[in-house]
Amino acid sequence: MLTKVIDQSKIDHFAKWLERADKIVIVAHVAPDGDAVGSSLGLWHFLNTQDKDATVIVPNAFPDFLKWMPGSKDILLYDRYKEFADKLIAEADVICCLDFNAISRIDAMADAVLASPARKILVDHHLNPEDFCRIIISHPEISSTSELVFRLICRMGYFSDITKEGAECIYTGMMTDTGGFTYNSNNREIYFIISELLSKGIDKDDIYRKVYNTYSESRLRLMGHVLSQMKVYPDHRAALITLTKKEQGNFNYIRGDSEGFVNIPLSIKNVVFSCFLREDTEKPMIKVSLRSVGSFPCNRLATEFFNGGGHLNASGGEFYGTLEEAKKVLELALEKFKPLLNAKG
Ligand code: 5GP
Ligand code: MN
Repeated sequence: MLTKVIDQSKIDHFAKWLERADKIVIVAHVAPDGDAVGSSLGLWHFLNTQDKDATVIVPNAFPDFLKWMPGSKDILLYDRYKEFADKLIAEADVICCLDFNAISRIDAMADAVLASPARKILVDHHLNPEDFCRIIISHPEISSTSELVFRLICRMGYFSDITKEGAECIYTGMMTDTGGFTYNSNNREIYFIISELLSKGIDKDDIYRKVYNTYSESRLRLMGHVLSQMKVYPDHRAALITLTKKEQGNFNYIRGDSEGFVNIPLSIKNVVFSCFLREDTEKPMIKVSLRSVGSFPCNRLATEFFNGGGHLNASGGEFYGTLEEAKKVLELALEKFKPLLNAKG
């Protein structure tokens, strides 16, 4: 049995909305990851079983390794089909905002979503949700939005309507937001849920291979190159990897090729904090990705130094300046956080 994580009043409220709603739009954050796509499609498959007219809209493209997901071809990309998407958003009865806590995380879609008269619900696990939805289901203690979607569907009494396809999407989000159940994954109820998803016929081993073992040769060579340039800060128990635009060109970089790189330095003994700085190809900025193990709050470092945020062990931000400048800022941050980086636990 699962603990009742979501307030009963919110479950009842949403169930009431669904009874009356026909057109439903599901939106997730920019540069959608496995949990954004997984939770959105998990909910989408469920709504289809209820004969709702549901559409998933995301601000821009998601990585190739998620394209096998059932329903992914029906996801509408806002940056390509803005007019159609704007119409759906404006005419929706309900908009479900999944896997983001701040309206700015849906980029160019923000205005349309804010302006829509639709009833809005937020289902998310990031800290400090902004107040732009009538129903706010926000649980930072839960490791993925996909898990929250599973809990929401079940608590409304519809476990039996979760299809194999929906279960595959929910599983994918739970798996990717925990690094294949290697962090934020000690809650035993996760494994109860996995057991329930397996009862729907999903092949979890196959999902793992489809997500993690379908990269190109050039990505693997890029990984080798990036790691060979890695800088380790033993006194700070930290490591830094970087990727310039030039290097991206040399290795035929495509979006998503550096996904997961930031986790690799954490496999060094005694390294508890990893930073990945990548020159963005579209905006004049450095994309910052941070990961930690144990109690080091990389979200605090992201907020204080990189205009960002996120979770305790996985956060990020943006830096407007050169890669060298970003590196200097990181080194300042390492000095400031040195006591915490060396704290036990
Ligand atoms: P990633 O390193 O995979 O891009 O991001 C990891 C996590 O950090 C995301 O799930 C999100 O919570 C947070 N994050 C990444 N980039 C940003 C950003 O620019 N701003 C904020 N507030 N959070 C971010
Ligand atoms: Mn998530």
